[in-house]
Amino acid sequence: MFLPQEIIRKKRDGGVLSAEEIQFFVGGITSNRVTEGQIAALAMAVFFNDMTMDERVAFTLAMRDSGEVLDWRSLDLPGPVVDKHSTGGVGDVVSLLLGPMIAACGGFVPMISGRGLGHTGGTLDKFDSIPGYTTVPDNALFRKVVKEVGVAIIGQTSSLAPSDKIFYGVRDVTATVESVAMITGSILSKKLSAGLDALVMDVKAGSGAFMPTYDKSVELADSIVKVGNGAGMMTSAILTDMNESLAPYAGNALEVRGAMDYLTGVSRPARLHEVTMALCAEMLVLGKLAANETEARAKLQACLDNGSAAERFARMVVALGGPADLMENPDKHLERAPIVIPAPSLKSGYASTTDCRGIGLAVVSLGGGRRRAADPIDFAVGLTGLAGLGEKIEAGQPLAMVHARTQEAAEQAVREIQAAYQIGDAAPTANPVVYRTIRP
Ligand code: URA
Repeated sequence: MFLPQEIIRKKRDGGVLSAEEIQFFVGGITSNRVTEGQIAALAMAVFFNDMTMDERVAFTLAMRDSGEVLDWRSLDLPGPVVDKHSTGGVGDVVSLLLGPMIAACGGFVPMISGRGLGHTGGTLDKFDSIPGYTTVPDNALFRKVVKEVGVAIIGQTSSLAPSDKIFYGVRDVTATVESVAMITGSILSKKLSAGLDALVMDVKAGSGAFMPTYDKSVELADSIVKVGNGAGMMTSAILTDMNESLAPYAGNALEVRGAMDYLTGVSRPARLHEVTMALCAEMLVLGKLAANETEARAKLQACLDNGSAAERFARMVVALGGPADLMENPDKHLERAPIVIPAPSLKSGYASTTDCRGIGLAVVSLGGGRRRAADPIDFAVGLTGLAGLGEKIEAGQPLAMVHARTQEAAEQAVREIQAAYQIGDAAPTANPVVYRTIRP
């Protein structure tokens, strides 16, 4: 029998906790055997004294085991159960493309996604912009859609990793979110609860990334790969650029339109395409659906070219309650903002840097994201035609088009976009889109 305060004391003094001590403490979170004050104290002790990789694995598994763990084996699926998770970004519509692409290549993707956080958009909010689409199906429907369509993108349920929800809530109000050990446990406990065979993690680096520096992004990617594999799930991480919006558009319904245009081949913006292909290819290789990256990319391109990825998207939308003609008639179903105005550049030159976080916050201030968890979302608003880094631009030319509910909100967003772009005299050196892949 352990005492929570003795476990806290040991970590406070720089000790290494045993798996049993961690299981006792984390198990106590949902059974109320440990108090909120004790959770806060342990979080602060971990923040300062960190956790070894073995401690992180035990922490992650204990949080997974605090709730339900999905089991796909009973469905006898003829392919691997795989997923992707991202640390969050702006204009990051990858999940909407990747799920259907992997399904079209023979994988099964039970994607449990989140809402927007801070300046980053959330996959769940994007799907909520589709009328009728349910992001909270019951378990039977979720399993049916995964089995029959190969992909279902839904929202977090309270039955998965409930101790993480409580632990994260305490971290959020005690200045202890920024710990690689605890972020690793938080993300992976939820993904392990989904019963995956393999996970590919997209860790963003740059001015719009959750992690504050490139080195911290590498540290998180490395930790996730070690702990994910240590917990028995094949895990790779890809470090990708978030110094500018990934797609040239951001905002919920606008991103759904963009995703459909990508899948149907109307428009495949280069940076978005590269990140999507890199993540998908890694998933196909991990899931043994392709022998190597070259073969994986060829399969993925074929699923895009022959329309089968677009078809999976359409089937998923219908299976989860959305309109049958969404792809054919997006304007009938997806809301459009009443006011669309340009955000003109104040100078001539080259787009040399963007404050990508500032661009995300401009979408939030238009109403496309939340300031507080309970805030409603305006699905119609956002940005399109975002100028890419390195682009030559004349004074007066648009840096982006602003889609707003009111003239006042539009004008505010114009100022925010103008402030987010630095226009220089020379073209900047381009950032790689994919920095590196981290494997065990
Ligand atoms: N996202 C999570 O799910 N958990 C964290 O701790 C940070 C980001």
